[in-house]
Amino acid sequence: MSELTRKSASELAGLLQSGEISSVELTQAHLDRTAAVDEQVHSYLHVGPTAALAAATEIDKRRAAGEKLHPLAGVPIAVKDNLTTTDAPTTSGSKILEGWMPQYDATVVKKLRAAGMPILGKTNLDEFAMGSSTEFSAYGPSKNPWDLNRIPGGSGGGSSSAVSSFQAPLAIGSDTGGSIRYPAFVTGTVGIKPTYGAISRYGLIALASSLDQIGPVARNVLDAALLQDVIAGHDPHDSTSLPESLGSMTNAAQNADVKGMRIGVIKQLTGEGFQPEVSARFSESLELLKNAGAEIVEVSCPSFEYAIAAYYLILPAEASSNLAKFDSVRFGLRVTPEGTPTIERVMAATREAGFGPEVKRRIILGTYALSSGHYEAYYGAAQKVRTLIQRDFNAAFEKADVLVSPTAPATAFRFGEKVSDPLAMYLNDIATIPANLAGIPGISIPNGIAENNMPSGIQFLAPAREDARLYRVGSALEKMHEDLWGKNMMAFAPELEVSN
Ligand code: GLN
Repeated sequence: MSELTRKSASELAGLLQSGEISSVELTQAHLDRTAAVDEQVHSYLHVGPTAALAAATEIDKRRAAGEKLHPLAGVPIAVKDNLTTTDAPTTSGSKILEGWMPQYDATVVKKLRAAGMPILGKTNLDEFAMGSSTEFSAYGPSKNPWDLNRIPGGSGGGSSSAVSSFQAPLAIGSDTGGSIRYPAFVTGTVGIKPTYGAISRYGLIALASSLDQIGPVARNVLDAALLQDVIAGHDPHDSTSLPESLGSMTNAAQNADVKGMRIGVIKQLTGEGFQPEVSARFSESLELLKNAGAEIVEVSCPSFEYAIAAYYLILPAEASSNLAKFDSVRFGLRVTPEGTPTIERVMAATREAGFGPEVKRRIILGTYALSSGHYEAYYGAAQKVRTLIQRDFNAAFEKADVLVSPTAPATAFRFGEKVSDPLAMYLNDIATIPANLAGIPGISIPNGIAENNMPSGIQFLAPAREDARLYRVGSALEKMHEDLWGKNMMAFAPELEVSN
């Protein structure tokens, strides 16, 4: 493997700026790595060498001409396949969008292009981002590079596996209930769900619009911060986009310090239900933070008990209406049934053939929850729980500057273990969902090896608009870990066999 693919995005940015490497060389090194390992890992649904190398060539030319470029200019990146791209198909992991070429770039994609970051390809995901393992992708699952028999997390398992198998230094994910943070937890990487509205959702294929948020996937906190600074900012195309800037995440990551910081351990997200080694690593990190001058306090969020139940009503309700547009008329697949092809029958046949089992399950659930006669009992009640969860957070943030928990209860499971039991799959989301329901930011950073010799992670949460706090504490703990372990977490990952 080229040593270049092992380096962090910030190191690569330095090498590009000093002229030691070119973007073409760097982009090619990552494309070569993909050619060598992606048959096993299956991070990508689409690899775009031509477009990526063209973007790299352009950046190299502009640099040679002395133009002042963005700090990350020339650093390649992978993008989750639920963001629209004009030069690559966009499927959202679904058969119903097979072959669809969008007419416009998502705002985040535009920002990556404007910063001069070549897009390597589009990464795999559970169909329409519904799932925790990529087993619901219509195109087959991605694998966890730490153990190819285990899941890379979901829905963004393509992005997490691309970054953790050194096919990309950075990737874009989306997090509706944990799809950035859970994959980070199981692959030893860093993932952030920014404050709701901090990143434009324009061009993100909506799952649940009140929960969805785009965010960075990286191998260290500084790289994630650099990426958040590229993609953040107000967008008139997204009416929920925040008008104000949240400041520089890069500065926050570079000013890592926890002295005097009050860190609240969420009582309901520790102990029972969490694997012993996940909990042990969690306690060890609390000790490190305490020794570095943080004040560890306990906070209680009693309504979290109902978070999964509320989420799995609100999400299907919104998803059932968002997915109504996939009707065979405007996008992708069209199936014409035998007999008289009325519009209703064409739509029904297309949706029957185009949607997978989890998507159908949630459309049915959501349509039912929104139906008259049941609306108040289900959707209405779930919205009330959502308010209670927000109040729990408000009370907790009176006592603490950031909150902390393990990112998920257990390290990566094996393929097939949960796919036929939707409830078991949903329970993985216990620690990540509350942040989406409240619109607050969360970060997952690597937290050492736990059960089955697999990585685990720790999650910090901050009040809305205080994303910078996450970068400060995340970067501080990462530094403590590296001092303790002598290296970045990803240096412990086993080498993949390379095919030529
Ligand atoms: N596991 C969650 C779900 O299936 C995560 C979804 C997401 O964040 N996109 O809904």
